[in-house]
Amino acid sequence: MQYCPKCRIDIRGSKQCCPLCRGDLTGEPEQDVFPVIINRIKRVSLVKLFTFLAASLIIAMLVAFYFLNTGWPLVVITLTVIGWIDTLLVFYYRYNLIRLITVEVCAGILVCLFIDRQFGFAGWSLQWVAPSAILGLFITTVLIGILSKLRFEDVVIYLFFDVLCAFLQLIAVAKGVNTFPYPAVIATAVLTIALLAVLFFGFRYVKSASGKWFNM
Ligand SMILES: [Zn+2]
Repeated sequence: MQYCPKCRIDIRGSKQCCPLCRGDLTGEPEQDVFPVIINRIKRVSLVKLFTFLAASLIIAMLVAFYFLNTGWPLVVITLTVIGWIDTLLVFYYRYNLIRLITVEVCAGILVCLFIDRQFGFAGWSLQWVAPSAILGLFITTVLIGILSKLRFEDVVIYLFFDVLCAFLQLIAVAKGVNTFPYPAVIATAVLTIALLAVLFFGFRYVKSASGKWFNM
């Protein structure tokens, strides 16, 4: 640490002279308090690079599919496309955690539905994955809203969306596609009650709190 004998102050970092009196300093200079910012690669160029790699891999897999005459290159292509779309989603929604998680969970459910269908539709995607994923999404959204102190109006639209998704499951139940409907029906009922609770008590609480603090 450096020291100004005139002002009798310690000075952090590395200074040529005293910032107060411009006088000479004694002692050893230390490393600067603020980190030196190194030019970072922009995220946009990372997305570009990733897109290029994904495209190259897809082209290579198409060539492999043409020559080897097996199915696995198509699986690699599908996974690459999913991974690429996912990277773009993370990039564009990185400032909105709730929206990112909502989109990710919906995409995950759709992927599970697709896989389930491809393997003869055992029904596990509708019976177990969708109800538990939507329930988990609702709880996560509420927790993120509380923990990151988001405004109630910004969160409630996602809760409505979650409940809407829960109700969409009931179409499969009504049509008899979902042969084990208990998780879907129970999850939808629980989420509807939870949404009502948030609307009845959450609104009032938030309103009184905002009225108190912001004089609305
Ligand atoms: Zn000084």
